[in-house]
Amino acid sequence: MDDRSHERERMVERQLVRRGIRDERVLAAMGEVPREQFVPSGLTHEAYSDRPLPIGERQTISQPYIVARTAELLAPQPADRVLDIGTGSGYAAAVLSRIVAEVWSVERIPDLAEAARARFASLDYRNVGVLTGDGRLGWQEHAPFDGIQVAAASDEVPRALEEQLTIEGRMVIPLGDRFSQRLTLIHRVGDRRWRREPGELVRFVPLVRR
Ligand code: SAH
Repeated sequence: MDDRSHERERMVERQLVRRGIRDERVLAAMGEVPREQFVPSGLTHEAYSDRPLPIGERQTISQPYIVARTAELLAPQPADRVLDIGTGSGYAAAVLSRIVAEVWSVERIPDLAEAARARFASLDYRNVGVLTGDGRLGWQEHAPFDGIQVAAASDEVPRALEEQLTIEGRMVIPLGDRFSQRLTLIHRVGDRRWRREPGELVRFVPLVRR
């Protein structure tokens, strides 16, 4: 056990279980990934606090609850291949990588993508790949995906992401304006049919268009 495991357990209990996160795989992964390694060195004492934190480049690592809720909505399974849009610190990708077979993550800011790659290497998380590019285009080379999680706000679902879902695949994306969004589950129910379920109100940084 590392020295932060107690803080992690408390975060899982107070911030996740008490707020209704039930998926055992998600709870186990959140209890395993060392969040302190995904925040700036000056903020490690805040790593398990109940809020997003700045990670530089005017971006943030999401609040633990939001990472867990997003993962739970994806209903991840061990054999799944998942696409993560907006790598940021890499934390959300790291959590999913403890549950599924492959995680492919896209980040537009090169320094963030590079820092995330270095974290995955130092933790020996080998099933996560990072691409520097526009996440609105997905990652065609590794498609289709059983799950897609988008960690940046959009007023519409990028077409390429819809198309890169498997039939029966699930996407979680914050849909709305720049002030508030609904964490929305999109379920591909047929070749040309997607069903939308708007969920709780959230506030993410914008999904930038080129
Ligand atoms: N999942 C991250 C949170 C990232 S915040 C974590 O766990 O830390 C959202 C990220 O989306 C930012 O890093 C931002 O640079 C990135 N982003 C915004 N627009 C994007 C786009 N069009 N393509 C790829 N990444 C984008």
